[in-house]
Amino acid sequence: MVFIYRIREMFEGWFTGLTIAGIMGFFALLAIALAVAVPLVIGIFVWRDAERRGLNRAWALAAALIPNFLGLIAYLLVASQHKPKIHCPGCNTAVESGVNNCPSCGHRFALANCPKCNRAVSPGWKVCPECGQQLSE
Ligand SMILES: [Zn+2]
Ligand SMILES: [Zn+2]
Repeated sequence: MVFIYRIREMFEGWFTGLTIAGIMGFFALLAIALAVAVPLVIGIFVWRDAERRGLNRAWALAAALIPNFLGLIAYLLVASQHKPKIHCPGCNTAVESGVNNCPSCGHRFALANCPKCNRAVSPGWKVCPECGQQLSE
């Protein structure tokens, strides 16, 4: 009887150990999954945003790998200083949005100011809202 009891004790100990190991393993996997998924999501976000803003894509690595989101925070600070770029329809060069002419090929994006009253006008406007001047494309 003592022998059987010992075996049972052994099995119970083994079983308990396995369960704890299982739980720990589960949380370890969860932690690893989070440790991989979070930087991955940040990296993809920064990669795309950096591309749009014409910034170095290495920021994606920095944002993903520097702990405590410090890389991401640093990137967001830098990104806020850089306007998103648009692609010139003439030559496909990335050009800072808000400019009127492509610096590469001279493609005209928009009229900057009304030729008559000098009010700032946006692309697509046919008439100056200030003075009624016809705006040519
Ligand atoms: Zn161009
Ligand atoms: Zn005007």
